[in-house]
Amino acid sequence: MRNTATPERLIRQEILALHAYHVPPSSGMIKLDAMENPYPLPQSLREELAQVVASAAINRYPDAGAAQLKERIRSVTDLPFGMDVLLGNGSDEIIQLLALAVAKPGAVLLSIEPSFVMYKMIAAFTGMKYVGVPLTEDFSLDLPAMLGAIKREQPALVFLAYPNNPTGNLFDADAIKRIIEAAPGLVVVDEAYYAFASDSFIPHLARYDNLLVMRTFSKLGMAGLRLGFLAGSKTWLGQLEKLRLPYNVGVLPQLVAEMLLAQHEVLLGHAAQIKRDRQWLYERLVGTVDVYAFPSAANFILFRVTHATQVFEGLKQRGVLIKNLNGGHPALVDCLRVTVGTPEQNEQFMAALQESIHQTFRDHHA
Ligand code: PMP
Repeated sequence: MRNTATPERLIRQEILALHAYHVPPSSGMIKLDAMENPYPLPQSLREELAQVVASAAINRYPDAGAAQLKERIRSVTDLPFGMDVLLGNGSDEIIQLLALAVAKPGAVLLSIEPSFVMYKMIAAFTGMKYVGVPLTEDFSLDLPAMLGAIKREQPALVFLAYPNNPTGNLFDADAIKRIIEAAPGLVVVDEAYYAFASDSFIPHLARYDNLLVMRTFSKLGMAGLRLGFLAGSKTWLGQLEKLRLPYNVGVLPQLVAEMLLAQHEVLLGHAAQIKRDRQWLYERLVGTVDVYAFPSAANFILFRVTHATQVFEGLKQRGVLIKNLNGGHPALVDCLRVTVGTPEQNEQFMAALQESIHQTFRDHHA
């Protein structure tokens, strides 16, 4: 007898309707698409790392509580008194865990648009209703619209990326405070790009019972380790811990992250360099005909360019991979996003961009 099990019959409608998160091939390219730290570790640290890995007990399950790593995170993060951390396999996993915890029937996950696409995707994974409130034209928070949506939708969970991806800007901190005060549920300030920004909500954790701050070490130079954390009161984290799979952060990520965080200043040094180079790149983009660049507090810059998809393809042909946001959200028409690389990569990108823009112009005016 033929089995009746087909994906269409078995899989939830909202999952069937999704497209998988697309990661394009990048082998051999100058990779400026995913906000990674472009710098390899110094030789001395690599040797230390080799030793740490060589002596790791990979035959054993990891320390489920990751006590040492958490202690290190607490000390480099300057957590206010009484606050705790929960670790995730990347901050993506933490978004999922938060959504799973509050996904009662009809529960709402509210965020802004455009922002990090995983908030919306994870709402679908967990059966939550997603509400996206548009940013203003210059990508600021639309506070009246946010407060209106909060009143109407009563969201269980609000995500605000600070700085925001893909727009790169920091929102007005007072507007965020108003949102936290108005929200009937949790507000998660997602500080994935904290190392490149001038402000943080960590110091405000003790002031708001419904505030949690999420960070990742991906952008600081550990994207390959997959490690993020959520900071907040034990009241919340204690509940969320029940949902965390016991061994979600492996032995090697725990040991390597702990070792690297002991050398936090090396990675912060990279971040400081990236911030200087962001300024260089921003000025070059602003000075390029046909380009409008948005100010950034992160390690990437969003810019608008005529015939963006063609310019993006031209960059790819010249060996430079950035992110094409054209065709996604209506507010991102003709927008591309470039991660700040090494000074050499930034120059190669600018040269390829100029060539690609000229080529595109010629093609359209031939
Ligand atoms: N939050 C934001 C705003 C992001 O841009 C990203 C990655 N692009 C993440 C969270 C997830 O990062 P990770 O899973 O690598 O920790």
